[in-house]
Amino acid sequence: MLLKGSDFDLPLSVAVIAIGTSANPLIQCTTPGPATDGRNYIEADPTSQRTSCRGVFAGGDIVTGGATVISAMGAERPAAKAIHDYLTSGSW
Ligand SMILES: Cc1cc2nc3c(=O)[nH]c(=O)nc-3n(C[C@H](O)[C@H](O)[C@H](O)COP(=O)(O)OP(=O)(O)OC[C@H]3O[C@@H](n4cnc5c(N)ncnc54)[C@H](O)[C@@H]3O)c2cc1C
Repeated sequence: MLLKGSDFDLPLSVAVIAIGTSANPLIQCTTPGPATDGRNYIEADPTSQRTSCRGVFAGGDIVTGGATVISAMGAERPAAKAIHDYLTSGSW
């Protein structure tokens, strides 16, 4: 159902869609260290979100590719535990 007043015309000749839905290809240049897959996403252990780089954790879209807020948030719970374990024990 269309809400009243929610549809309208814009007088445009060109529309540039500028949304990010993939990994920035510069990541490997600006942040060398964590291993990435063939699509430039950071590889992370799915149970701890640990990357191949000691002390570096990753989760969310940069690991899975474009997904959802729920998915990104879901990765942070195990990451928080793993980060806590790492900071308190020092073991990787
Ligand atoms: C147009 C659009 C619509 C969407 N609609 C929905 C929806 O309706 N429902 C839904 O569940 N999901 C939706 N998504 C997907 C959702 O936005 C993502 O899955 C989610 O935001 C991923 O969260 P994230 O924390 O992994 O990454 P992000 O939310 O992208 O957070 C990454 C953060 O890192 C910051 N950053 C990047 N590079 C650097 C750097 N070098 N230094 C410091 N900070 C940096 C960025 O500015 C950003 O704030 C949509 C996505 C898009 C593009």
